[in-house]
This record gives sequence, structure tokens and C-alpha cells, in this order.
Amino acid sequence: MKVTEQIAASNKTIISLEILPPTKGKSIESIFNHVDPLMEFKPSFVNVTYHRAEQVYKKRPDGTFERVEIRKRPGTVGICAALMTKYNVEAVPHLICGGFSKEETENALIDLHFLGIKNVLALRGDAAANEKVFVPHPQGHKYAEDLVRQITTLNAGHYMEEDIMDGVKTDFCIGVAGYPEKHFEAPNLDTDIMHLKNKIDIGANYVTTQMFFDNEHYFNYLDRCRAHNVHVPIVPGLKPLTNRNQLTSIPRFFNVEIPIELCNEMAKAKTPAACDQVGKEWLLHQCRDLLKRGVPMLHFYTLSKPDVIYGVLKELF
Ligand code: FAD
Repeated sequence: MKVTEQIAASNKTIISLEILPPTKGKSIESIFNHVDPLMEFKPSFVNVTYHRAEQVYKKRPDGTFERVEIRKRPGTVGICAALMTKYNVEAVPHLICGGFSKEETENALIDLHFLGIKNVLALRGDAAANEKVFVPHPQGHKYAEDLVRQITTLNAGHYMEEDIMDGVKTDFCIGVAGYPEKHFEAPNLDTDIMHLKNKIDIGANYVTTQMFFDNEHYFNYLDRCRAHNVHVPIVPGLKPLTNRNQLTSIPRFFNVEIPIELCNEMAKAKTPAACDQVGKEWLLHQCRDLLKRGVPMLHFYTLSKPDVIYGVLKELF
């Protein structure tokens, strides 16, 4: 089922999970172990992130270095297929512009369509590890809106090869990213929302937000998006803050504010278990408020903390 159909069909808030592929060399069991306990809460969707290749320097036997490209976390599409088979759940692969030509993207979309995948999250991706700013692939896309356009074009049955006269129409429901506290590159929130609106006008069907720790950021964003005539579902993305390093790393990498009360509680926590407890209580408080105010879906970034998410879901449902 498509994300938008599931939201429309449900009279209560549904949930979705987001997971990362394991690092290369690990088995699919590590994903199942991560997801297994959370399936108790019957998530409607499981998103699987995409991680682009990085350029690293490898030492040769003669002591010199060579620059090689490696993908530390391959497997997004395979994990989607494995989740769908094992749990009969809808998987939502993330697709990024970075590192992909348009043709490679088209081929990836064909694979996803053949697998029976109905939803994709279309993203630009961040700059490669060796680059200061995002540099598009020479035959690729510069912004997520270009990727959305390519998907809607394929949904209309138009392929890159012009001699394909009667191409099968794909039917992807397209999600895009939104930033309640603005994307770090955007000059201001309104400009960022204007770019979000472009993605919707081109064909995106729903928005999943960056994490936030103060629900007022989300509700303010919702109001501002509606004022800009963005009327698709805007799904809150939620992550527990579970260690003190994140007090500086999250604002730096994600342009997300941490409320003073949460900083103070984290400062009092002296053990990893106490930090997890603070993160759990804060997230629980956020979720209760979001549920009370009728959000369509709660999207959890489970990352390395499925146990904390489990504790939150157990108290909520
Ligand atoms: P865009 O929508 O292209 O926006 C990027 C910036 O460009 C913004 O500042 C925007 O305002 C601006 N902009 C957009 N269009 C235009 C235009 N036409 N002209 C000028 N400026 C414009 N990254 C991964 O690598 N893999 C993942 O799996 C992944 N999953 C994510 C899931 C979610 C829910 C979120 C919120 C983010 C995720 N990211 C992921 C991170 C994301 O790739 C980065 O935040 C990236 O920097 C921006 O992606 P975007 O799709 O929002 O880009």
C-alpha cells in the first residue's frame, strides 16, 4: 500500500521505522535482530536509508597510497526485499541523487518496481565525505526536485530511451524530506519551504521531517507549509537523544536545536543507562503530545537505539 493511501485509510496515527543497512561484512540477521522486537507494534512501513560511496586512501604494499571508492553500507534494495518477504511489511527505500547518473537511477527504479515496492523517499543526499559542498554526478541530479521529476516521468511511462514507445508505467508514491528548523544550506525557512513546495508541485506525495526535539518547531513548520499551500501529509521524524556527545553533534550536523530542559536532564545522567532513560522520557513526552494533536504518522529513526524506541512504543500502544 502507498504511504498516502495508508494514512488516508487509517482513523488513528500509524507508525513507521527507519533503519540503516549494516556495515559491509555483516549479515542480514543483524537487521532482523534490530527490527524483530519492533514488529510487535505493527509498523505500516520500514524505511531503509541509502549510503553513497566514499573515497578513501588505501595503503599499497610499496607504502604509497591510492584513492579508492568504497561503499560501507551497501544493501538498501536487498534489505527492502528481505523485510517484505520476512515480515510482510511495506519497505520504503531511500533514493539519493548523489553519486548516481540519471540512467543508473532509472535502472534502480525499474528494479524497485519489479520488486513490488510502492513507495520511495527521494533525496538529494549530502556532500561526499571528501567534498565540502554537494557536487552532483555529471549526468545526475542537482536537487531532490530533479529526482522527483524523474520518478513522476517514469510513473507516466516515459523512459530515458526515446525509442521505448509503450513503456510500463511505474506507480511510486513519492516522499521527500522537510526541515522544521530549515535545511542547513537554506538562507531561511520560507525559502526552504518554497523549494519544498516545488517538490510537491512536481509530484511528491508526502513529506517526512528531519528530527526535532521541540514539537513547537514541527507545528510551526506545519502552519508555515500550509500557508505556502503545501497540503500533503507532513510526517514527524523522531529520534531519541541518548548520549551527551549528541548535544553538540546533532546541532552541528543537522541544524537542529536541543531544548535547554533536555540539555539539563542529560547533564544529570551519569551512566549510559541513565542517558537512555532521559532520551526515552523526552521522546515519550513528544510522542504523547503529537498523538494528542492528531499527527497522521510517527516516523522513528531507530538507528542504533531500537531498545529505546521499543520502550517508548510499549508505553504508547
Ligand atoms: P533538496 O530538497 O534538494 O534541498 C537541498 C537544499 O537545496 C536545501 O537547502 C533547499 O532549500 C535547496 N534547494 C532545493 N531546491 C533548490 C533549487 N531549485 N534552487 C536552489 N536551492 C534549492 N541522506 C542520505 O544520504 N541517505 C538517506 O537515506 C537519507 N535519508 C534522509 C531521510 C530524511 C527523512 C531526511 C530529513 C534526510 C535524509 N537524508 C539522507 C539527508 C539528506 O540527503 C540531506 O539533508 C541533504 O542535504 C538534503 O536532501 P534534500 O532531499 O532535502 O535536498
